[in-house]
Amino acid sequence: MERLAESVAELRQTFKSGKTRSVGWRKNQLKALSELVRDNEEKFFEALYQDLGKHPVEAYRDEIGVVVKSVDCALSCVEKWAASKKASLPLLFFPSRAEVIPEPFGVVLIFGSWNFPISLVLDPLIGAISAGNAAILKPSDLAPACSYLLANLIPQYLDRNAVKVIEGGVDVSQQLLQQKWDKIFFTGSPSVGRIVMAAAAQHLTPVTLELGGKCPAIVDTISKTYDMKVTMKRIVGGKWGPCSGQACIGIDYLLVEEKFASFLIDSLQKILRRFYGENPRESKSICRIINNHHFMRLKSLMKDPLVADSIVHGGSFDEEKLFIEPTILLNPPLDSELMTGEIFGPLLPIITLNNIQESIEFINSRPKPLAIYAFTGDESFKKQIVAETSSGCVVFNDTMVQFICDTLPFGGVGQSGFGRYHGKYSFDTFSHEKSVLHRGFFPELEPRYPPWNDFKLKF
Ligand code: NAD
Repeated sequence: MERLAESVAELRQTFKSGKTRSVGWRKNQLKALSELVRDNEEKFFEALYQDLGKHPVEAYRDEIGVVVKSVDCALSCVEKWAASKKASLPLLFFPSRAEVIPEPFGVVLIFGSWNFPISLVLDPLIGAISAGNAAILKPSDLAPACSYLLANLIPQYLDRNAVKVIEGGVDVSQQLLQQKWDKIFFTGSPSVGRIVMAAAAQHLTPVTLELGGKCPAIVDTISKTYDMKVTMKRIVGGKWGPCSGQACIGIDYLLVEEKFASFLIDSLQKILRRFYGENPRESKSICRIINNHHFMRLKSLMKDPLVADSIVHGGSFDEEKLFIEPTILLNPPLDSELMTGEIFGPLLPIITLNNIQESIEFINSRPKPLAIYAFTGDESFKKQIVAETSSGCVVFNDTMVQFICDTLPFGGVGQSGFGRYHGKYSFDTFSHEKSVLHRGFFPELEPRYPPWNDFKLKF
């Protein structure tokens, strides 16, 4: 606890010195971060394989490549982002001028999650550095190889007096939360998000909560104007592709019309075989479950007697390898744990409806998701989905790709969190927009001052 407090105090001292505010310092740190990632690609691949069995291609696509893209974007834009912006003023203010100056919060705390243990720590850090903050990073202890690697590499590349990694489990997280921060950026579950917010309230610290939830994918059959083959690949890619379903924006469940279900299951099975072979247990393209606790949690979701009968594909597992086969379930009970909580694993329930329009009501009767996916070529249905539902984002005819688009804000709403990041939004998330007004002394309007009288009221 004392060492933690010392680390925070050291960072505070650095921030006070003004060093991190200089755009030159920010750019140097971003360049160093870029080198860190590029120089150590192989080490990251190894650590991600050790923690999650992540294949290097998936590791590059979802982690290393994401960080490289974000840091390049920040490097080319940070000067523009950090510059003060002239603000227009109403005539009443003449002659005056005004500007909005982004200023760093100070010393920020970034919590990462284990499913993307590199990008979900470094991506927010890019925003924190771009905005001129000092930062402490707390990677997830459930991905220990990645946490250890970050703790080793960051002091070798970045300014040790301004960026630190603190490793540890829940006890360390709790101690960190007892410190005073100028901003907390948390990626994790809604239940821990509540703990973070309560701790932040003690110091009125602003928070960004990147949480999870159940992301639905609507698969429409109203219009035949979209590509069914591509749709099936994108559904399989959006469910099992990222970290074997252990992804906050991965598809949690599908909503389809009843008459479409058997075609859908057949098609998904074909793609699953194409992607992961006849025996997915031997596939190198599918991540393992992070640990025994999550393995047992997922197994018990499947083994729930009310749910087990609904398995139409897969259902096998290997405890020693922490492997769970891609599994499809048809109409599991809606009050089962599988359908009430976030699955965060390779189980895909398909819920059938009489009419695809009912999907809107279905989604609205549950907490607001981080993402809604919808495969449809029907423009009026698209408009209806956007207008009548609420979620962090809506993606039509694809899955997951929104995460790498720096021009779109990424974040949740309601139970899936609040705040947003990526690209300029990351910079904004770690900045306070300070308004500065420069006034002249003329003209001086006397009616603004007492004593009040009828003349001044009419004025
Ligand atoms: P988690 O909430 O268990 O842990 C996140 C962090 O909180 C870890 O660093 C952990 O050490 C810390 N923590 C855990 N328990 C704590 C406690 N009692 N007090 C203080 N700190 C504590 O989440 P997780 O298991 O790492 O990740 C899974 C969740 O994260 C899922 O809900 C998923 O949807 C969500 N997630 C969201 C995003 C996003 O971008 N929105 C991305 C990835 C994961």
